[in-house]
Amino acid sequence: AVARTPLIAGNWKMNLDHLQAVAFVQKLHWTLKDAAHEDGSVEVAVFPPFTDIRTVQTLIDADKISFALGAQDISSHDSGAYTGEISGAFLSKLSCGYVIIGHSERREYHAESDEVVAAKVQAALRHGVVPVICVGETAEDLEKFGASAVPAGQLEVALSGVAADAEIVVAYEPVWAIGSGQAATPQQAQDVCAKLREVIASKMGADAAAKTRVLYGGSVKSANIASFMREPDVDGALVGGASLVADEFAAIIRFQK
Ligand code: PEP
Repeated sequence: AVARTPLIAGNWKMNLDHLQAVAFVQKLHWTLKDAAHEDGSVEVAVFPPFTDIRTVQTLIDADKISFALGAQDISSHDSGAYTGEISGAFLSKLSCGYVIIGHSERREYHAESDEVVAAKVQAALRHGVVPVICVGETAEDLEKFGASAVPAGQLEVALSGVAADAEIVVAYEPVWAIGSGQAATPQQAQDVCAKLREVIASKMGADAAAKTRVLYGGSVKSANIASFMREPDVDGALVGGASLVADEFAAIIRFQK
């Protein structure tokens, strides 16, 4: 079996200005000193707002902090007359290794369709930024179609035209579990993550499916992270609210199976 390095990713959403970001990253770094991620056994990534990225990048470089950096969105275009948009070229210049694409808040409040998500995935890959592709069903979808049909369908479209050797990350985030305090059960997360791995296999091949990290997201905290990480197809977590509290995010990163 392929060993997949767990990824613990903190999505700050629209929180922490650039000064608060400095204080937070320093606190997290010092809290984690000598922790598991220092030896590379867990990868940590932070996803600040665009206006913090340069500041956080400078801090990471200056202090040799071992966090990966990501953005929360990307334009599907590379440059030009797209007021307010951010190109993947800019993200890769700022050493953003990752970009969240298709978060349910963008699908809901910015009407991002599966096709827009797919175009953004292509943009990220063109610029060497690893897309963290978010999929998940609403409470209504869950009732009508069960847990896996909607996320599997979203992922199929997102992976159209993605090469077999492309590096991607997939995040299963049931919409009803995001920010609600009501996480999925580890078994629910496992079932859907396993289904998503099958979709990766069908679109990109067996090697890609074995290598690709599939995360769970939705009300993850230090008290439940271990139960998710024990599941064979859950390779990490995308964390919202709990990623904003340094002690709590550090405890999530230090999960013990
Ligand atoms: C998210 O929005 O990606 C998320 C998982 O949020 P929370 O952890 O707050 O549920």
